[in-house]
Amino acid sequence: MASLSNSETSFDVVIIGYGPTGATLANLLVMNGLTVAVLERESEIYHLPRAVHFDDETMRVFQTVGIGDALSEKLYVNPGMRFVGQNGKLLMDWPRPQEVGPQAWYASYRFHQPDLETLLRQALVQREGATIRANCEVVKLNDIGEMVEIECRDRLTGEVLEFRAGYVVGCDGARSMVRAAIGGDMEDLGFHERWLVIDALLKRERPDLGDHSVQYCNPDRPSTYCRSPGNRRRWELTVLDHENDEEITQQSRVWELLSDWITPEDAELERCAVYTFHSAIAAHWRKGRMMIAGDAAHLTPPFMGQGMCAGIRDASNLGWKLALCAHGLADPSLLDSYQEERSPHVREFITTAIRLGGLINTLDRDSALSNAKQDGPESVRMRSILPVLGASDLAGLGDLDTQHKGRLFSQPILSDGQRMDDLIGYAPVLITRDPVQPGPDADMLSLNAVDHPQIRGALDVLGVNAVLLRPDRYILATANTDQEIIRLAGTAFPSPLVARVT
Ligand SMILES: Cc1cc2nc3c(=O)[nH]c(=O)nc-3n(C[C@H](O)[C@H](O)[C@H](O)COP(=O)(O)OP(=O)(O)OC[C@H]3O[C@@H](n4cnc5c(N)ncnc54)[C@H](O)[C@@H]3O)c2cc1C
Repeated sequence: MASLSNSETSFDVVIIGYGPTGATLANLLVMNGLTVAVLERESEIYHLPRAVHFDDETMRVFQTVGIGDALSEKLYVNPGMRFVGQNGKLLMDWPRPQEVGPQAWYASYRFHQPDLETLLRQALVQREGATIRANCEVVKLNDIGEMVEIECRDRLTGEVLEFRAGYVVGCDGARSMVRAAIGGDMEDLGFHERWLVIDALLKRERPDLGDHSVQYCNPDRPSTYCRSPGNRRRWELTVLDHENDEEITQQSRVWELLSDWITPEDAELERCAVYTFHSAIAAHWRKGRMMIAGDAAHLTPPFMGQGMCAGIRDASNLGWKLALCAHGLADPSLLDSYQEERSPHVREFITTAIRLGGLINTLDRDSALSNAKQDGPESVRMRSILPVLGASDLAGLGDLDTQHKGRLFSQPILSDGQRMDDLIGYAPVLITRDPVQPGPDADMLSLNAVDHPQIRGALDVLGVNAVLLRPDRYILATANTDQEIIRLAGTAFPSPLVARVT
């Protein structure tokens, strides 16, 4: 075994896997003053994108991590998605607003995944408290009660390395070894299909391809077109049962399949690969000091562009809870709320994506359209979904935490142009119409609509006078009377000691 000093082998949290989920969680944890090691099997960021879309809530988490502005320069604001039948007939429209919305960001973005991962990693290395080990494959975990022992193999030298951590989070993707160590099956939600994913770089302008994403509901070969930033374009095409992966990824075959849209004169192919899209949720997201997040915990077909988004939500939900537990400020049973809240939430996205897949495959149109409203005699309009967190008993605030608990709060843009979250950091905050008398605990951050009038609108939408927000921007409790607001201000939870440093 390699000899490393104690500070090089012992951490508050070890994250296994440096994909988007692991990199986001690592940032949030070191922002809260924890020592974190990220152990990653590969040497570099995977240079090709898988995800091409994320939403406003996800962008809000990236804002919290400190990369929102730099990232926004590399994005394309998505005008929406159209579901088109044979002969080009519009079956369903899913327009996305072209104005900044209630989350203070656009509703839907197209992006290049390596751009995002580069920014997340740059942010992490600039913060104190993070140790990153590439080429480091975790092979064994041993939860010994007061800590977890982690055994790794250096893939370059073959050396065995050992680490210790108060908590381990497996952000180690679909084949998660941490999930296996936790035990329990994946619940299969029934969707398993092979799709050919083609990334192309346009060599000349092709405005006729359009700026919307298009789902071609063609029973012979359901297909997707995505308009990514710059000259990047993505096609995803169903692989038929009799076709094999090797044959369908041959360049000549790929160009044949793309011939309805582009030719080699228009674009060069960046990659062609067959993925099998699954739909599943892990039965257990935590056992003792070990947890899973991202693709390790759930898998969705990509028709809503929500797989990575769900992993980013996991990181935001888990980060502050883990920080409280690792600092000894909360009982580890708080971590039970992570799966309780996140699992039903991600299930709504997965089942909706499966229904959309049904429409694209034109096999189950009625079920697919249950999320949409009729928009004319022949086409319908899809609504975005905004699930509420699953029930958990976090605050013990009784009657104050029933009405809006578990809903994402909006992000007003303040008079000076600043987004509200930039005043808060990754911390709890009490938001009130009027200044609170007596004020909240010294360390509890509070904002009021007298100092920041834009906050009033957000309270009006909910019809309340005060909101206690968790660091992940979900509502913990709301209040109306002075007495209730004083109770909110005096609540011991979430701990005011969660740092709001960045
Ligand atoms: C074709 C396609 C299109 C998609 N489109 C979208 C989209 O538009 N929007 C969206 O939100 N999502 C989309 N997704 C889903 C999205 O790509 C994934 O949900 C996301 O990348 C998962 O991130 P993660 O960090 O959880 O896992 P990964 O990105 O899989 O990262 C896991 C990491 O763990 C490492 N690892 C694994 N085992 C070990 C080990 N034992 N030791 C050390 N390291 C280990 C791996 O090397 C890897 O780097 C798409 C997926 C595909 C395939």
